[in-house]
Amino acid sequence: MAYSADVLIVGAGIGGLTAAALLQERGFSTLTLEKNSYPGGSCASFRHKGYTFDAGASVFYGFSDSQESGTLNLHTRIFDRLGVNVPTIPDPVQIHFHMPEGFDVPVFYERDKYLGVLIKRFPHEESGIRAFYGELESVYEILSALPAGSLEDLAHVMQVGTRHLGKTMSLAWKTFLSMGETARKYISDEELLKFIDMEAYSWAVQDAVSTPLVNAGICLADRHHGGINYPVGGSGAIPEALCEGIRKFGGAVEFGCDVEEILLENGAAQGVRLSDGQVFTAKAVISNATVWDTFNRLVKSPRFQVSEKRFLRAPSWFQLYLGVDASVIPDGFHVHHILVDDWAHYNEPGGTIYFSAPSVLDPSLAPKGKHVVHVFVTDEADRWSEHAREDKQYKQAKEYYGASVIKRTEKILPGLSDAVEVKLLATPLTHEKYLNRYKGSYGPLLHPGQNVLLKPQNRTAVKDLYAAGDSTFPGQGVIAVTYSGVSCASYIARKMGNPLDYL
Ligand SMILES: Cc1cc2nc3c(=O)[nH]c(=O)nc-3n(C[C@H](O)[C@H](O)[C@H](O)COP(=O)(O)OP(=O)(O)OC[C@H]3O[C@@H](n4cnc5c(N)ncnc54)[C@H](O)[C@@H]3O)c2cc1C
Repeated sequence: MAYSADVLIVGAGIGGLTAAALLQERGFSTLTLEKNSYPGGSCASFRHKGYTFDAGASVFYGFSDSQESGTLNLHTRIFDRLGVNVPTIPDPVQIHFHMPEGFDVPVFYERDKYLGVLIKRFPHEESGIRAFYGELESVYEILSALPAGSLEDLAHVMQVGTRHLGKTMSLAWKTFLSMGETARKYISDEELLKFIDMEAYSWAVQDAVSTPLVNAGICLADRHHGGINYPVGGSGAIPEALCEGIRKFGGAVEFGCDVEEILLENGAAQGVRLSDGQVFTAKAVISNATVWDTFNRLVKSPRFQVSEKRFLRAPSWFQLYLGVDASVIPDGFHVHHILVDDWAHYNEPGGTIYFSAPSVLDPSLAPKGKHVVHVFVTDEADRWSEHAREDKQYKQAKEYYGASVIKRTEKILPGLSDAVEVKLLATPLTHEKYLNRYKGSYGPLLHPGQNVLLKPQNRTAVKDLYAAGDSTFPGQGVIAVTYSGVSCASYIARKMGNPLDYL
């Protein structure tokens, strides 16, 4: 059979593009098929009326130039390998948390400065605070010593296990621990434990007890090492640079290609069929779609269907993309904020407000005298599905809900309602439509207490069909899906006889 490429990739999100770029650089031919007219999925940028908006992600790890970070620092290592330059701007505060009862915590790059803020509010918990955040450091130290690779690749696991026996054993033990239970070993203050829940919720949309310690060790420790760095030009600079790398080594990324079916023959993936009928074939297919979209929609055989119960489905989002008069943002205002009005509802739809104003760091994102603001809250598609997206009632409901979120955001940015000059509102239905994600979900989550290694890896039940992205280990977040792309490419490259060199 004549193949269209060695490997076909369904979707140009960060997971799919990372896998494609590393395979292509290694000499395999790749063809990435993306339904939208731009790359990046939840990490894309889009332009509207002179503003550049981040579609989703805007807090970025993995861009430090430290040589230490084995499994971390992946963006730097990947772009070095591809020979593509992605300039970034360091962000001195990861997130500024505004919690109930005046509990206000900017998470400074400097770890001591950050812990100092916590200790000032909870002096009776000083030793517990140091011990808990020390545990996260120990996870970070292990991960920054181990090279990234596939946990399904026996040769990689043996090599890392032999060279770093102590660290590997220690990491294996830590995969059984949860962030919240570890915190409770050292800390008993209820308000502080709630804040630690919020630290987890900020990226995992689960409380700390449901969040694996290993994931926390990346997100809550690396921010004080590699730090948070924002790509010049917006989040879309990352997927654009991956596309540049793919093309540089002869690969192709095609847009406007809606994959309707992953074609199987004798239980093995053979290629894909687009909604316009075109067929492409390959030796292997990587799906960057969610596990539900891949197995309940693209793979047509009922044999491989994934039941609703297998994972928890994370909520979707209601998002506001705002262009505002710059005078509303005071000098020294931090870029990222999280606001909780009431601990009783923080984890309910709409309970937590996420805020970012990246033009504070990169003024090129907004016209002169303006800022770009992105506000979002969790939401559920079912709440909106009674409306068609074109309905008048749908538009009214969006406006009404959007205004209430803006009003609540005034707690951190007084005068915001009057400063808005440009406004785009997106419901979970928008998210579902633009990203092809089942119910617009942030992705599948493990059930509380499950070992992080139970998250699906890159191989699937279908021979020659692989998965990369936030449905696979280690989970949600741009650096996490980058890891999944690296491990997917590593596995396939070894299987096809030309293993990747470690990054
Ligand atoms: C509002 C929001 C804020 C976030 N904030 C942060 C943050 O600050 N920091 C952070 O690290 N992470 C953040 N995240 C999470 C992060 O953006 C995601 O976890 C990550 O980008 C997901 O990447 P992915 O590769 O799994 O898939 P996606 O981004 O979902 O990309 C999948 C791509 O595949 C395409 N596709 C799907 N099906 C098909 C098909 N059948 N045919 C063709 N193409 C298809 C889609 O169009 C899409 O482009 C945020 C996410 C959201 C939604």
